[in-house]
Amino acid sequence: MNKDLDRKQRLILIVEDEEDIVRLLAFHLEKEGFRIHSAGSGPAALDYAFGNIPDLIILDIMLPEMDGLEVCRRIRSNPLTTAVPILILSARREELDKVLGLELGADDYMVKPFSVRELVARIRAMMRRLEQSRPAEKVSSKDKPIRIGAIVLNPERYEVKVKNEPQALTHKEFMLLQLLMANAGKVLTRETLLDKIWGYETGVDTRTVDVHIRSLRRKLEEDPSHPFYIETIRGVGYRFADR
Ligand code: CA
Repeated sequence: MNKDLDRKQRLILIVEDEEDIVRLLAFHLEKEGFRIHSAGSGPAALDYAFGNIPDLIILDIMLPEMDGLEVCRRIRSNPLTTAVPILILSARREELDKVLGLELGADDYMVKPFSVRELVARIRAMMRRLEQSRPAEKVSSKDKPIRIGAIVLNPERYEVKVKNEPQALTHKEFMLLQLLMANAGKVLTRETLLDKIWGYETGVDTRTVDVHIRSLRRKLEEDPSHPFYIETIRGVGYRFADR
């Protein structure tokens, strides 16, 4: 393997107690050039994640000792891992709103049984977005902090503060907020937001945008039901107020 590929080799943590699935995923993801570590329980996953900060986490829900939802919550609430993209496995469909939902802050999900090809495609897409948004690799005026009202978004530090308090945003929420704030005062349609943030991902529609906006409001707005920053433009999309 040449140096360039080596430097780019990303670490994926697979949190799954079914060994067959771990082997299957590891086989296909290693073939794609990713480094793999697996953990078979919630506590083992957290131990590893906090010590090694993987680039991405594949997380099963049904796990011994601690379920995947709790693992997700703890990964999000630790500043070291708060921005690590998480793909949830095995959520029942009815749980998805809650899972994506942002209280928990997963970035994507697949329902078991899943297609390995589809999963690998999604991981690749998530990694690509990570490359595109990872500030250390691309320094330009776009990476300067944006301050509007009490909200400061710092792309270089991958950090959002409200009244100086750091907020735990998912990767998608961060990208969405960055796009909205960079275009403050302009109306962005839901289709534009979907296209820019989710791109070619399958299984998402404009409702996904709304769910993420709701979650952002909960994290940023003093009164999420009467938003001061993120305005809804009925029937069109959203606008970050140019305060
Ligand atoms: Ca399981």
